[in-house]
Amino acid sequence: MIVMKFGGSSVADAQRIRHIIDIVRSQLDQKPVLVLSAMGDTTDHLLEAGNAALERGEVSIGHIEQHHLDTIKKLKLPNEARREITALLEELRRLLSGVSLIREMTPRTKDYMVSFGERLSVRIAAACCNALGIKALACDAWDMGFVSDSNFTSAELLAQSWELIPQKIMPLLRKGVLPVVTGFIAKDPGGSITTLGRGGSDLSATMIAAACRAEEAQVWKDVDGILTADPRIVTKAKPVEAVTYEEAAELAYFGAQVLHPRAMQPCIRTGTPVRVKNSYNTAASGTRIIAALDKKSVPVRAITFRRDVTLVDIVSTRMLGQYGFLAEVFSCFARHCVSVDMVATSEVSVSLTIDAAQDISGVKKELSRIAGVDVKTGMAIVTIVGNVKRSSEILARAFKTCQLIGVPVQMVSQGASKVNISFIVNGAEAVDVVRALHLDFFSPLHERR
Ligand code: ASP
Ligand code: MG
Repeated sequence: MIVMKFGGSSVADAQRIRHIIDIVRSQLDQKPVLVLSAMGDTTDHLLEAGNAALERGEVSIGHIEQHHLDTIKKLKLPNEARREITALLEELRRLLSGVSLIREMTPRTKDYMVSFGERLSVRIAAACCNALGIKALACDAWDMGFVSDSNFTSAELLAQSWELIPQKIMPLLRKGVLPVVTGFIAKDPGGSITTLGRGGSDLSATMIAAACRAEEAQVWKDVDGILTADPRIVTKAKPVEAVTYEEAAELAYFGAQVLHPRAMQPCIRTGTPVRVKNSYNTAASGTRIIAALDKKSVPVRAITFRRDVTLVDIVSTRMLGQYGFLAEVFSCFARHCVSVDMVATSEVSVSLTIDAAQDISGVKKELSRIAGVDVKTGMAIVTIVGNVKRSSEILARAFKTCQLIGVPVQMVSQGASKVNISFIVNGAEAVDVVRALHLDFFSPLHERR
């Protein structure tokens, strides 16, 4: 079996729904389980409708209602599907009337309210599958074994889900039925609806894949997987064939279009491969996220960067052979609520970076009493994500490249995650550095001249 997850934009309207059903049909022999998000921006619209009821006493689901009913019409779904959808919309309207009367919305009510998005989308998609001759069943996650704690709006799945999910899913597959399961939602042991946090459908999918020991969890997005660099900066950026779970997590922190690190947890536990695929370009093989890569693979997976970084250099001879100096420095940052990103130290100095949006003046004033403090704004962090076991090779090539284009490196740090090497350069030079590094690490030899 496999799990195929499609996000909101992939099920945004009738045409997109038909398209993903074509994709599912092409893999029916693999026994797929389908996991879906709410259609388009429905989750946001539900939250807006909730606010309108809470703040202005307005009950308006016109937009949500119209879009879902329109989709049913365009897909020419039978009356039975229409009745199911209308009943859910009616329940939603009653809930919002309640909110408008008592003018109160607890996190529990909020989760109940946003759950309608996924409950609507799976019913429409399953009805469409059946109309097109694929035997499918719309399933609410709580009927498929998703039990969470009661931490509404960002609930955690409970351990019992690991056993319950395969118990519910596998019999359906054996009967030749395609389960179409709501992403994002669950119920707590008391029976209240919960949500797993925004973007939580990825986690629903990886959880089913891991718990059922699927061959693969496919997460369908609107990009060709993880790219070697931002294509707006590096025109020759290309999809990465495979990355490790750790590398993918690192890339997610740097804003790559991948899974949230939390969503990878279940698959890390069982070693289940995750594949990021593009629903707009089904021919592309996408990026596989797996436990380990073979030794011969290239040392670097991707190159990213972040601008608007401030570099703080703290120099003091008092530090030599002393203890407590670093503690003093960091407690000063803590007192002023300034969060530190990268750190590098020597015997007599500490260099660190902070986000440029933070106010450093208080820290500077206080630290100046015990050390020389130099603040450089307008810097950038360039990060190379790859196999840090080969850090000597990566660093040698990276420094050589910087030297060739005449860019001084201001600070270096190797992430404890063992998958990232970051260094600081002048913000104005960052794009050049990323392009030159990409050329060196990813282009065939004849293109490098
Ligand atoms: N529909 C939810 C959201 O928009 C969950 C998801 O899409 O993953 O956050
Ligand atoms: Mg969404």
